[in-house]
Order: sequence, then structure tokens, then C-alpha cells
Amino acid sequence: MSDPFFTPVSGFDLPRYAGIPTFMRLPHVPLDHPRLSEVQVGLIGVPWDSGTTNRPGPRHAPRQMRDASTMIRAAHGTTGFRPFEAANCADLGDVGPNPADILDSLDRVTRFYETVRAAGIRPLTAGGDHLTSLPILRALAADAPLGMIHFDAHTDFFDGYFGGTPYTHGTPFRRALEEGLIDPARVIQIGIRGTAYDSEDKDYARSHGVRIVGIEEFFDRGVADVMAEARAVAGAGPTYVSYDIDFVDPAFAPGTGTPEVGGPSSHQALMAARGLTGVNIVGADLVEVSPPFDAGGATAYLGVSIMFEMLCAMLSPKA
Ligand code: MN
Ligand code: MN
Repeated sequence: MSDPFFTPVSGFDLPRYAGIPTFMRLPHVPLDHPRLSEVQVGLIGVPWDSGTTNRPGPRHAPRQMRDASTMIRAAHGTTGFRPFEAANCADLGDVGPNPADILDSLDRVTRFYETVRAAGIRPLTAGGDHLTSLPILRALAADAPLGMIHFDAHTDFFDGYFGGTPYTHGTPFRRALEEGLIDPARVIQIGIRGTAYDSEDKDYARSHGVRIVGIEEFFDRGVADVMAEARAVAGAGPTYVSYDIDFVDPAFAPGTGTPEVGGPSSHQALMAARGLTGVNIVGADLVEVSPPFDAGGATAYLGVSIMFEMLCAMLSPKA
């Protein structure tokens, strides 16, 4: 029996284009709301892109994705699973970033997620560029390193940019590993491809035990087999999921800053997220949607559809 307060607005009651958009038409429960302690999964926007090294725009993604997410309905179309009846879900709002100060923004994100974690809420985030994941991990992995399943065209294991600047969207997992936020033996990266400057990022990750599944292996083996390995690598321990929309081929997801051709289709992208079912997910993010490059809105819609799959994976009973 689900609480009417935590039940999303139905398209049968109010047209999708009407009303003030929240993620998946859930109630807005800001951190000072009296019912915050009842929330089990919190959808959060992190509208910043100060770590972007190429085409910007993810600062606009949470608002665009809230609008696109009015298409999300109550039940999973294939499995029939009803995530909003399985747990109290709510839109916790946005982290207010400081677009003029990257270090201050990192701290603001961490403080927000410390509050979320202390309230016992599992966060499901719409970024933001991929640097968004680092301050979230600082809050969620404060006590012990997490496993991580990471979908991306890029490793984001670079050391520094532009003369050694440590904080960009190409460096979050290098910093996370250095800071002891992720356990490299329980980290798998899926979909890596594209031209390269050298192999330093991959060499560093592999030398610490990170498993990298390049795009050729992904296609050769297929989604189901790769996701079975991902579940095995993550194991039973607490695991973070980070999903960069540029994992998907830019034919399907053109609205992103650093596209790489030769990637998975929308369907394969959804099936990969569905393959997370059974993983002990303590938090997840969907990053790098860039609305200014998203003519027609397909990328934002795919992004929220992947978020819905991840939400179902977080709440479904083990397969
Ligand atoms: Mn990335
Ligand atoms: Mn990427």
C-alpha cells in the first residue's frame, strides 16, 4: 500500500506538459522538509559543469531531465515492477553549486550528500558533468571504499589537465582511488573507446586492479554476459553506479560534451542498466547530458529512462 504523498502524478490525472516538473513527477522534498526521514530513494539534481574540458552544458541537465521525466510512468514496461510502490521516492531538489568556484562547489555537493546519507536515503543523481561523482563519493564512501560499476566511453582516470589541474570531468576516479573512496578490485568500467593521447589512464587503472571492458569486448560478448561479470566484480558489498550518457552512441545520445562514435544503442544502454539488478547499490548517477546539444530532447529522455532502469535495479528483489 503506497502513501499517496509519495505517489507520482499520473498522466491520466494531469497532462504531462502541465504542472511544475519534478523528477518522475514525484513530490519535492527538500532537505528541510518534515517528511525527509521517510524518503528511501532521493532523486537529486547537480546542475554544474565546471569540470568540463570540451563542450559545456550539463549545468542545464537537471532542469531538462525533470521535464523529460514527465514521460516516466508507474510501472516498468517489461518486468511490470513498480518502483514507487516498492519504496518512498522523492525529488530532493538541486544542490546549489557555485559556478565561479570549483572547490566550493565540490564541498557544497559533499555536504548535501552527507545530509542525504545521514537521513538514510539512497541518492539517484542527475548531473552535472562527471566530476559530480567525486564529491558524492566523498560523502557516501566516508567510512569505507565502495565498489563501482561505471558505464562510459572514457575511463575518467586521467591525472590532471592543463598543466596538472586535478579536478575535471576526466579525473574523478583517479582522485577517488587516491582518496580511498573506491576499491579498485571491485571496480569495472564498461564501454571504453575512442581515440587516445596515450594509455596512461588505462595503465594506471589496470595496475590498481580495475577491470576495463572495452567496446569491442562489450559487443563481442553481449550485454547479458558483461553485466554478469559486472555483478561478480562488484560482489555483495556496497556499490556505486556511475553512468555517463556518452557510453551510448551519439546517434542515440547526441546531447553530450565529449561524444565517441561506435557505442551501444538506446536499447543496449537500457539493458545494461537493467543488468544491475541484484547489485547492492548505495547510490547512482547519470551524468554528462548537455541540453544545448540535445536537439529534440532525445538524450535527456534516454537519460531519465536509464535513471528509471537504475531505480528499478536499486529496488527490485534479487533476480
Ligand atoms: Mn565520464
Ligand atoms: Mn565520457
